Amino acid sequence: MCQTKNNKVIYRVSSYLFGYKSLFASTLLLACAMTILSVMAPSVIQQVLDKVLVSGIGNGKILLQGIVLIAAIFFFKELLNCFRIRINNKLEQKVIFLLRQDLHNKLLRLPVTFYDRRKSGDISSRVIEDVQSVERAILDGTEQGLISVLTLLGVSIMMFLQEPRLAALVFIPLPILTWMAIRHAKISKENWRAVRDKSGDLNSLLVEDIQGNRLIQSFGLMQREKNRFAEIAEALKYFSLRAMYRWSIQGPCASFTSSLGILGVVGMGAYLLETDPSFTTGQFFAFLLYANMFYEPIRQLVGINNLVAAGKASGERVFEVLDAPIEIIDPTSPYAFPLDCHEVTFSNVSFSYSERSPVVKNLTFKIAHGSTTALVGPTGAGKSTIANLLLRYYDVENGSIEIGGTPIDQITVDELRSNIGIVPQDPFLFDTSIKENLLLAKDSAQEIELWHALETAHAREFVEALPRGLDTLIGERGIRLSMGEKQRLTLARAMLKSSPVLILDEATASVDVATERQIQIAIQKLIKTRTTLIIAHRLSTIREADNIIFLENGKILEQGSHEELLRLNGAYANFCSLQENIVSN
Ligand code: ADP
Repeated sequence: MCQTKNNKVIYRVSSYLFGYKSLFASTLLLACAMTILSVMAPSVIQQVLDKVLVSGIGNGKILLQGIVLIAAIFFFKELLNCFRIRINNKLEQKVIFLLRQDLHNKLLRLPVTFYDRRKSGDISSRVIEDVQSVERAILDGTEQGLISVLTLLGVSIMMFLQEPRLAALVFIPLPILTWMAIRHAKISKENWRAVRDKSGDLNSLLVEDIQGNRLIQSFGLMQREKNRFAEIAEALKYFSLRAMYRWSIQGPCASFTSSLGILGVVGMGAYLLETDPSFTTGQFFAFLLYANMFYEPIRQLVGINNLVAAGKASGERVFEVLDAPIEIIDPTSPYAFPLDCHEVTFSNVSFSYSERSPVVKNLTFKIAHGSTTALVGPTGAGKSTIANLLLRYYDVENGSIEIGGTPIDQITVDELRSNIGIVPQDPFLFDTSIKENLLLAKDSAQEIELWHALETAHAREFVEALPRGLDTLIGERGIRLSMGEKQRLTLARAMLKSSPVLILDEATASVDVATERQIQIAIQKLIKTRTTLIIAHRLSTIREADNIIFLENGKILEQGSHEELLRLNGAYANFCSLQENIVSN
């Protein structure tokens, strides 16, 4: 996985903030105005105190005026704070929205190899939690950081103007505090990265446990899952505590070091009050307030360091996704998908998944235009891989694949895939109405067309019997469909998508004989007008194919029609007799 450089993370998230220049500038301006009011307050207090002390404690009018003035300063400061918080929240939500949208867009375009290597829970934790964390760190970091730096500057100037000797004292702990902050940032970034990674692992486990709930119950895997959960949650707790403990050392150490500075001011200030008549009580009081105000932003900067360290760790995880390469590249001057001839040709095709021995080896075969080829063979022979290569989920390592004489890597991925229909083994349907699931294949389809497709797929009857017909919700929010019903809906969907080439990954899940027969008829209707590649399991489907390829270890062992292959009395004939035995048993 590529490592995004720290500074790059900050720079890149900042570029999202700069997209909203006026909001960003407003929040910073309000922060500046608040800081000016804060820095002014002790000086006003000093003047009020000195005036009251000089004119006698009994001068209630001056005291009252002074208190009203100070109260007004505090009031305006908090009023500005109220606006600042609102603008800050708005900006934050806008940037989070943009970042999440970019991530989602990228996830939709990423190649299947990206998903092969990652767990879905971890990916979703990057989109949901990490985006929030990195954004908060950068926005708060910039804003609070600016307030702190401005306060430091303002307070330093005021202190030197008031009494340079005391001001110099306040600066003594500064190098120690800076060194502590830099060290803390380095260590805590590593801690926070571990926290974020473990949180991603925990999310992945939850997704697996929810999706595999039935399996877990039927295999009695509860204890195993409890142990796995405890192990990851324990690791998350361990790393979170490590990150927090680190802060528990840093925070108090920084506070203690700054208290020593204040102590120095108290001692030296008391001495000056005794020995230097030009140094007033009001100045001493204001100086103590300034000294306190000086260390507060330093403490805050250290806190921001902690926040930014966590944010950087999250930022790395966000940008790892945004920077992941789109491996399947479109040609610079693409050809259109061939109109008339859809003959599929594999010529000397070899392919291996990363770090594995070749799965498909020097494969050469043809599917004649409008014909059906069935891929048959043991599990792991490479049948699905061939379908994946035709859809360009992966690119071939050697050789070429052509449709109608055009190499598929010379057609844009979108155009290629929109011309290849697919009926997957797992009949995936979205959690919405039947109608919307069908419209995915052809959004302009009229209802009459939908019913026609359902009829051809032998699905009309059961859809008509549903409470709201085509508008019935299916999936988690709606009714559950049986496996056979889902299969027929995916067939109807493929019917609607009038793609000239079709890949049909025949489902192995068993359905009753009558349903199987209906599915069989639907399949025959579907493939009649298309150039079809079937990953076949049922003898009834295989027999009907124009050409059968028996595959083993990524190589073609036998090829021909059903009768031809039976006459060979080899691997295919053996496969058929095994199938027949299974059926008769
Ligand atoms: P079949 O469809 O004939 O059962 P596949 O094409 O699915 O076979 O798999 C062929 C081989 O490739 C198997 O050894 C399988 O483990 C491996 N394989 C399949 N998909 C992947 C993947 N995404 N990453 C790595 N190896 C894979």
